[in-house]
Amino acid sequence: MAEKRDYYEVLGVSRDASDAEIKKAYRKLSKKYHPDINKEEGAEDKFKEVSEAYEVLSDSQKRAAYDQYGHAANDPNFGGGFGGGGFGGGSYGGAGFGFEDIFEQFFGGSGGSRQSPNAPRRGSDLQYRVTLTFEEAIFGKETTIKYNRNEECHTCHGSGAKPGTSPVTCSKCHGTGAVQVEQNTPFGRVMTQRACDVCSGTGQEIKEKCQTCHGAGIEAKEHSVKVTVPAGVETDQQIRLSGQGEAGQNGGPYGDLYVVFRVQPSEEYERDGTEIYYELPISFVQAALGDEITVPTVHGKVKLKVPGGTQTGTSFRLKGKGAPSIRGNFTGDQHVKVTVKTPTKLSEKERELFQRLAEESGQTVRANNEGGFFDKMRDMFDK
Ligand code: ZN
Ligand code: ZN
Repeated sequence: MAEKRDYYEVLGVSRDASDAEIKKAYRKLSKKYHPDINKEEGAEDKFKEVSEAYEVLSDSQKRAAYDQYGHAANDPNFGGGFGGGGFGGGSYGGAGFGFEDIFEQFFGGSGGSRQSPNAPRRGSDLQYRVTLTFEEAIFGKETTIKYNRNEECHTCHGSGAKPGTSPVTCSKCHGTGAVQVEQNTPFGRVMTQRACDVCSGTGQEIKEKCQTCHGAGIEAKEHSVKVTVPAGVETDQQIRLSGQGEAGQNGGPYGDLYVVFRVQPSEEYERDGTEIYYELPISFVQAALGDEITVPTVHGKVKLKVPGGTQTGTSFRLKGKGAPSIRGNFTGDQHVKVTVKTPTKLSEKERELFQRLAEESGQTVRANNEGGFFDKMRDMFDK
């Protein structure tokens, strides 16, 4: 993005929009362009643009600076700047499902005041996608997932210092984590504060670094965690596993892990929430005379009574043979839609019988049944 667009224009709000209007516009646009939802080219850039605009306009101080100085206020040397550890800050609601949670997370993390560099910071959240078969999604399961994450260094327990030594107060910034720098800006020469380069803003200097993490206090490790897939889960629903994300900084807590589910389609069934749909082909003899037919369901085979005179397209309900609701309080039904198949080939005997049936109903049967009795039957069933 060479030319930065105006933040108000990005969110499609007026310059005197209220906080509520800004939040509403952001919610709408961030959902529209969220890379998990919108796979179109450029959606991710739009999403970032929208997030950046919201980050500024939702913070009264940053908004005031932006109103006064435009994008120059965004210069990292000019006041706060952005970033600072992703979507940190605070705990979220209970383990819920659906995209709402992701958005709550963005709102929960933004707009806070800038923390001092050596304040504890919560680790980043991670996302892990789990693919389930059609049946696994219905019945749920226990599984263990493995992924790489940053953990607190096991040698120095996060301090970054060689065991037996401790970080000392930084000699350059005397523990404040910041140094004064004279800066040329579009508004003249000003004194600004910058993170101390010796201690990277932590205020603590590590004289002898830990051999394992080289002073970072964290190390990449393969981590495994047990996941209980809830029965009745659907594509794009997710669960949050508290503390299973990345290690925090300066003693801050671990982030969370979001496990997002994707359900594979079935060759036999269609599913819509708790309801399962199944198509059952029957002969027109079965349709005309009625029959008891064995029908597969995810819960096992079930006998279905098809009454005589059943029309094609008729749907029967098998109670409790669907998927459980995610809240666990009921189970849906299986709907069996009957399709009557007209025979394409007849034996001599069958032909004879059908001809007699046709005579019985007072119809003329032409040679090869073209436009005759069978087509009439077909028309009747395939309406
Ligand atoms: Zn270490
Ligand atoms: Zn320092």
